[in-house]
Amino acid sequence: MRKIEMVDLRGQYKNIKTEIDESIQSVIDTAAFVKGGKVTEFQQHLESFLGVKHVIPVGNGTDALQISLMALDLKPGDEVITPTFTFIATAEVVALLGLTPVLVDVDPNTFCMSVDSLKRVITPKTKAIVPVHLFGQNADMEQILSIAKENHLYVVEDACQSIASRYTFSDHTSCMSGCMGNIGCTSFFPSKNLGCYGDGGAIFTNDDDLAEKMRSIANHGMSVRYHHDRVGVNSRLDSIQAAVLDVKLKYLMEYTQKRQAAADFYTQSLQTIKELKLPTIGPNTSHVFHQYTIRVLNGRRDELQQYLKENEIPSMIYYPIPLHMQKAYANERYGVGDFPVAENLSKTVLSLPMHTELDEEQLQYIVSVIKKFFQNPC
Ligand SMILES: *Cc1c(COP(=O)(O)O)cnc(C)c1O
Repeated sequence: MRKIEMVDLRGQYKNIKTEIDESIQSVIDTAAFVKGGKVTEFQQHLESFLGVKHVIPVGNGTDALQISLMALDLKPGDEVITPTFTFIATAEVVALLGLTPVLVDVDPNTFCMSVDSLKRVITPKTKAIVPVHLFGQNADMEQILSIAKENHLYVVEDACQSIASRYTFSDHTSCMSGCMGNIGCTSFFPSKNLGCYGDGGAIFTNDDDLAEKMRSIANHGMSVRYHHDRVGVNSRLDSIQAAVLDVKLKYLMEYTQKRQAAADFYTQSLQTIKELKLPTIGPNTSHVFHQYTIRVLNGRRDELQQYLKENEIPSMIYYPIPLHMQKAYANERYGVGDFPVAENLSKTVLSLPMHTELDEEQLQYIVSVIKKFFQNPC
């Protein structure tokens, strides 16, 4: 059996090596390493894949979030609501811009922003909501968008883990993840569902004015060369990364189906283990399984992780500490106990190997080891 990896980027590369190598070589041949034609080609291909008017390629997913918030012209002290159970970047950019991150708890089934908690924290200072489509499924966007509309709030989607996931509204229209709010952000970090061979990210929007503003912010606040209308940053996707992404985008639906098939296998095989809670897919969304995250309900999560490790199966805890319990975000607003769902998740979640190259033998082996663990009494 091949060694089991959490993410198998080498195996994936082997299958598309010729195409990737040619695409990278074409960039080297033209020497257009920054702002080259490859970036524009990829941008256009991604726009049509997503059915969104504007894709703005940037340096990474964190920059995508930061540039999005910069474009909203918020004032210091304005409040931005985001879940406490996410990767730090989501709240980090809010804090960096002098805005106030207001954290909310998550739904115990989908791990995405709890709509009830969201409703409770809206104040006259609230200006934006940043839902995170965690692990590959969309947050409850129909409700979030309607709350945003009622309260005149911007919605910036963190779609770093959910590219190619689809959300269906009650009127039967559907949208790709990241294309529902005012702005959507994604990351092309190597291990993401559409990953490059370094850092990369993109911003999505259907709003022409916001698109123009964000393009300018990503390019030193410039619209006409050497005329700086606003304070910006330097954040761009380089051409070699675009060359990789343009090839991989063609395979994204196939890759997504492979992840979903691996997830189905896990779910079919593990559903009889009563000590486990398997991923639940929320209503109206598809799940692209950036992570397949189980919950160990009998307090033996760390023990299971150790047992898997002894049997050469990697696993990860995303995320071990919710944001409200992080030192850098300590705040008189909240303390331990304030977000019971997130706190419980941080103690019970375990993400199993999930990628496009998992074969049946590996999957069989992983579930057999998990089953064996639960046959042993504590
Ligand atoms: C990966 C990720 C980011 C940050 O993306 P980078 O490209 O690493 O900057 C932000 N939010 C979430 C939820 C992520 O998973």
